Amino acid sequence: MVTTRLTGEEIEELQALGSAHFWPHSRPAGDMSDETGIKLVTGGEGIWVEGADGNRYVDLIAGMWLKNIGHGRKEIAEAVYKQMLDISYSPGGTVSPSTVKLAAKVASLAPDKESRVYFVSGGSEAVETALKIAKKYQRNVGQPGRYKVISRRNSYHGATHACIALGGHPVNSPNDYGPPLPGNVHVAQPGVDCGAPGDCDLSCARDIEKAILHEEPSTVAAFIGEPISAAAGIHVPHPDYWPTIREICDRYGVVMIVDEVITGFGRTGKMFATENWGIKPDIFTVAKALTSGYLPIGAAVVSKKVADTMVGEGEQSLKHLITFGGNPPACAAGLTNVEIIEKENLVENSATMGEYLFEQLQTLYEHKITGDVRGGMGLLAAVEFVKNRDPKTPFAPEDQFDRKLGLAMEKHGLLGRGFMGTMFFSPPLTITKDEIDHVVHQVNEVASEVEASL
Ligand code: PLP
Repeated sequence: MVTTRLTGEEIEELQALGSAHFWPHSRPAGDMSDETGIKLVTGGEGIWVEGADGNRYVDLIAGMWLKNIGHGRKEIAEAVYKQMLDISYSPGGTVSPSTVKLAAKVASLAPDKESRVYFVSGGSEAVETALKIAKKYQRNVGQPGRYKVISRRNSYHGATHACIALGGHPVNSPNDYGPPLPGNVHVAQPGVDCGAPGDCDLSCARDIEKAILHEEPSTVAAFIGEPISAAAGIHVPHPDYWPTIREICDRYGVVMIVDEVITGFGRTGKMFATENWGIKPDIFTVAKALTSGYLPIGAAVVSKKVADTMVGEGEQSLKHLITFGGNPPACAAGLTNVEIIEKENLVENSATMGEYLFEQLQTLYEHKITGDVRGGMGLLAAVEFVKNRDPKTPFAPEDQFDRKLGLAMEKHGLLGRGFMGTMFFSPPLTITKDEIDHVVHQVNEVASEVEASL
């Protein structure tokens, strides 16, 4: 592992600077303490990350659900270096070969091989772009009254204003920012707002039809959802859930947007999650693992049916510009990243190792605090810890469960996420069987320790 060692003095200086000036995402500002604060990391290789203190950790959620090819890949550094020396930004009215090639590569992997790819710089922008394209499409096909968007409660689609109006996941505190964008309609989240998967009667999918009819179809532009929502706790939906939504969207002329920002590029054991159910979205969004997080990128991947209505110079064209969209070094990183995913059969590894991980996680039921183990579709899983298994009773805020879980995870060499009593698993797709055995052993240690402390 290549790592930049820091002296104790350098670490202290960085902690002081960070406490005063660095504003972390989604964490309390100013906390760079050893115990609970933001950690300094200096190296990474495969599923492993090294802290400035020399400790090694398993990166349990692949950075932020994105490091699919793992840390420390020289091939990406070399591709980006070469691209930066060739041309690092293509001026207005030009495009780099890497950008064109990546658009074609993504289209070749997409359910619709004739897709057009609109590059942006991240997942939120990809979702914003997809929403604008869906509304513009409705105008172009003579439906200008369609502006409403249907999304599922507790979904996460990004941090910008349009994104926080979708689903209203609590991490975004949507009520802090005044009235949300008009035209947002929230429906049920599978696995959260309905019964156990065994009892599923697809009422959550039918909720979408009810919402369309209630709002009046001629006002509804689009539906958006993540194939498996990580934010809502990784509930794999019933096999007929997505095909039913596809039928509903077709029946009422609603654009179907699938947010593959987490699930794209192999996470669910297929290149894109929609392949698990054989459906074709009208638009899908990608970001994170398109470069495995080596450089910022995002894209709205738009089916030919939708994109063709916007081609040309007239009123029908899409007026939309993002400065870093299609950035050549980011696209060079993306091309090499996809090449590695294909060459190293990482999609297949995600399917087989995902199955093994899910199987091994069942051992956690030996702990009384394990309420649910979810997953089984690629390397994406969750363990929900509860105060009581039957009837399922979540921990109360005064139990400080997430804090205890986080501290125990760090002690046992796991970097990851404990959120609302749930521990998430989304490791790099390079993970091996031995590494999974190590992870599951450590997680069992964590569960024993937290259980004893309650
Ligand atoms: N969509 C989904 C499903 C996400 O999980 C995220 C981020 O985690 C986003 C969109 C937003 O992506 P970004 O943080 O790159 O803006």
